[in-house]
Amino acid sequence: MKLKDIPEHLKNANIRPTRKKVAIIEELIISDEPLDAYQLYRQVNSRKSVDLATVYRTLAVLRETNLVHEINDVSGISFYEILKNNSNSHPHFKCSSCGRYFCLPDIDEERKKILIEMAKGFRTSTISIVMSGECPDCK
Ligand SMILES: [Zn+2]
Ligand SMILES: [Zn+2]
Repeated sequence: MKLKDIPEHLKNANIRPTRKKVAIIEELIISDEPLDAYQLYRQVNSRKSVDLATVYRTLAVLRETNLVHEINDVSGISFYEILKNNSNSHPHFKCSSCGRYFCLPDIDEERKKILIEMAKGFRTSTISIVMSGECPDCK
């Protein structure tokens, strides 16, 4: 999703493109890393006044319409990212020191097949891999 396409994406999903919603999505697009709701709230507020409840509401709507992908942390915190290339099968890396999330390159088809075969007898709809350790800044 590109910045200029936001209103159209929202309209296609039957979401009214209010200025606050657009600002929240803009922030998700600009960010290279998945953000949790509070990080997102703080970053949006450096430019536009939006309350935390609006951020949560907007994220819920975007998640329902699959414009945003939610990553569930083992700690119970949800992180959110915009699907940039229609793929939600890229793995993530969680830094256990600074707590940031990083997107890793997409899993290629061959590796995806291996993973799906591991879940023999199941019907796989999403693959979600989170690796953890220390990021380049922290190690
Ligand atoms: Zn780190
Ligand atoms: Zn990602």
